[in-house]
Amino acid sequence: MERTPAPKVVGRFAPSPTGRMHAGNVFAALCAWLVAKSQGGEVVLRIEDLDRERSKPPFADQVQRDFERLGLTWDRGPFFQHDRDGAYEAAFRALGERGLTYPCYCTRADLHAASAPHRGEKPVYPGTCRRLSAEERRAREEAGRRAAWRLQVPAATIAFEDQVQGPYAQELEGECGDFLVRRSDGAFAYQLAVVVDDAAQGVTSVVRGVDLLCSTPQQVHLQQLLGLPTPAYAHVPLIVAEQDRRLSKRDRDAGLEALVARFGTPEGVIGHLAALTGLAPVDEPMSPEELLKGFDVAELPHAFPDKVQVLWR
Ligand code: GLU
Repeated sequence: MERTPAPKVVGRFAPSPTGRMHAGNVFAALCAWLVAKSQGGEVVLRIEDLDRERSKPPFADQVQRDFERLGLTWDRGPFFQHDRDGAYEAAFRALGERGLTYPCYCTRADLHAASAPHRGEKPVYPGTCRRLSAEERRAREEAGRRAAWRLQVPAATIAFEDQVQGPYAQELEGECGDFLVRRSDGAFAYQLAVVVDDAAQGVTSVVRGVDLLCSTPQQVHLQQLLGLPTPAYAHVPLIVAEQDRRLSKRDRDAGLEALVARFGTPEGVIGHLAALTGLAPVDEPMSPEELLKGFDVAELPHAFPDKVQVLWR
């Protein structure tokens, strides 16, 4: 009997071109590459320049040179989010036609005053604009307020098995709240864009920093509403400058230029990151290809001694 071949694994690099890559970005990309390649898969490159103000074309070029230099190859792309407004618009409209979105006039200050951060993760929108009457909406428009758009979430739990973090669940209404799908300046929200792009680009394996774990239920919910497949997720530890403070693109010594200077070669950088996080037993220069030889996706739940944060050293 003929067997249908297993669908190809498609991973992705999804850098935001808002600065040079830092050690944490390199580490997440390395993991995405290893997870895809160890399963005979391919990698798509998507430049996440959704935020037009903060994204700069020179950084989009630079990030590609940096990946090349590190031996982090990609098979398709680059795809740019700035080309994809039509696709985001179609998804946004499909949600609106089902009555699932509503305009939100809350200012940053309103939001700050109204919502208590949940479990130190993200603030839950209290639903202030959910039940505005047509008249109340008109009054806000007339006062010059520009609406952002939120997705109304049900009281339902989204649960999935993360390939690194294990089982994860979130109750949408209580733990997440109605979330933005379009900003008041017209830009589509990250959650919507990423779901539309992952599906259009055939992504089946999402590997990224654990800071995005709490966004994943929103993305899975959107996939379900839009009839799109849900990829496998692996949320890898963050590299932190100090306890609970993410490494930033401005941290000294963490940018790729400084990294290569410090560790001598791109392989020196990869080897150091692998040893630091527990992916490799010793700190010695390694190319992604060399690291791939000892990498097994089935071992991911045990690959990182600390699954949440690793101190940058
Ligand atoms: N563009 C995001 C970043 O650079 C990654 C988003 C994602 O992987 O879903 O942090």
